[in-house]
Amino acid sequence: MSLSHRHKIVLYNPQAVFFTMPLGLLAVGSDLDPVHYEVVIIDGRLEADPVAAVLAHVDDALCLGISVLTGAPIRDAIRISRAAKARRADLPVIWGGWHPSLFAAECLAEASVDITVQAQGEETLGEIVLRLARRESLDGCLGCTYRTAAGEICVNPPRPLRNINTFRTHNYALLPVERYYQLKGKRQLDYISSQGCNFRCAFCADPFVYKRKWVGFEPLRVAEEVDALWQRYRFDDLSLQDETFFTRTERVEAIVEEFIRRRLPITWAGTMRADQGDRLPDAVLARCKQSGLRRVIIGVESGSQAMMDWIRKDIQLEQVFISAEKCLRHGIRVIFPFIVGFPNETDESVQASLDVIKRLRRLSPDFETPVFFFKPYPGSPITEEAVRNGYQLPRTLDEWANFDFIGSAGPWVTPQRYQQVERFKFYAQLAWDHPTPWKRPFQKLAQWRCQRDVYALPLEQVLSRWLWPPERLS
Ligand code: SF4
Repeated sequence: MSLSHRHKIVLYNPQAVFFTMPLGLLAVGSDLDPVHYEVVIIDGRLEADPVAAVLAHVDDALCLGISVLTGAPIRDAIRISRAAKARRADLPVIWGGWHPSLFAAECLAEASVDITVQAQGEETLGEIVLRLARRESLDGCLGCTYRTAAGEICVNPPRPLRNINTFRTHNYALLPVERYYQLKGKRQLDYISSQGCNFRCAFCADPFVYKRKWVGFEPLRVAEEVDALWQRYRFDDLSLQDETFFTRTERVEAIVEEFIRRRLPITWAGTMRADQGDRLPDAVLARCKQSGLRRVIIGVESGSQAMMDWIRKDIQLEQVFISAEKCLRHGIRVIFPFIVGFPNETDESVQASLDVIKRLRRLSPDFETPVFFFKPYPGSPITEEAVRNGYQLPRTLDEWANFDFIGSAGPWVTPQRYQQVERFKFYAQLAWDHPTPWKRPFQKLAQWRCQRDVYALPLEQVLSRWLWPPERLS
């Protein structure tokens, strides 16, 4: 590759209410050859004036890339794209991430967006910036969709998922790591060791975007990178952001053996499926714990086996309890997320989930059971069915910007059902939480309520909300 000079690539992460490091931008930015490109990552969550921060860099930039999640981040992405275009009409604006992976062409209805990238972005962005630098067309550039000079939308074929071991090491010097520690309130480094997922859960967009493929770093690479990052950034905790970290048992085993051999003084947390937990030998879990494993997330989704089968979770309920018992034995905390309010879900099915939550909560105060209402996320078979049955997905980017995953339910959930689940969440959390002297009487009452499913007159909940208003998530 020969380029006449080094080009500046500006990457922007939109504002959001959590402070996970922007690992997608880090991955694509790190893979651009530093000889030819100067990469600047700007995080809207860290800037007092994100627009000014971006505009300070666009005059001499080759392009602006923005990572876009569905929901509120779209609004900020549009704001930044428009501001950049107003400053430099000729600046190519590229959107990548989940939303443009699902809505490749639709995102280009926004006039300030020129190109969208679908799925794995490292190689695609590399080819886009090379073609932009050479003033070449994007015709045939796999994995991207773009608007031609004549205003036509061109959808290129998808790019095959590449083995991520061929990509450059993530360059954390592109991020102000200490700022993230401050905002998180702990020295916790986010890291991702794999991409994609082999499974087919019918509510999830991952199978649509990654076609049920999974690619992971070699164990030695993970250990060497984590070790080098610890030497440099001295974090206490490593938060693995993989979709399913425990995908290959032998790989997990090799990684933790390296962590132990290197005596890394850290804790870590990752994602596990219940079937993976079931198959995982006790000895391997013991070594995970020894290497610092403090917490796993195991998506249960439903307490009804029929519902689990319908959402193609490919997990047996008993595997959830086998995994729970194993984690309990090894002193590993677990978050078990649930989803209720699927279209056509029966009262019995919702009740089955609440009953499984109670069983899990009784096992340990270190088992958390967040409950979410199903919202039809695009790209999943359940959503397609809901749309066939008349559900109207948002049509414009503005409508998608108002799409709230967490704070609401689908229209098929009755207000009574919504209220019952919301109250149950409060009481189940309180009932089996770590006890404190002042909490104990309230916990007894909450246990009584949960055991009998009595959630009327929730005075404790009203008092709690008044004393400790819940944080807004979006
Ligand atoms: S929910 Fe998790 S396990 Fe299921 S397809 Fe999505 S990423 Fe994979």
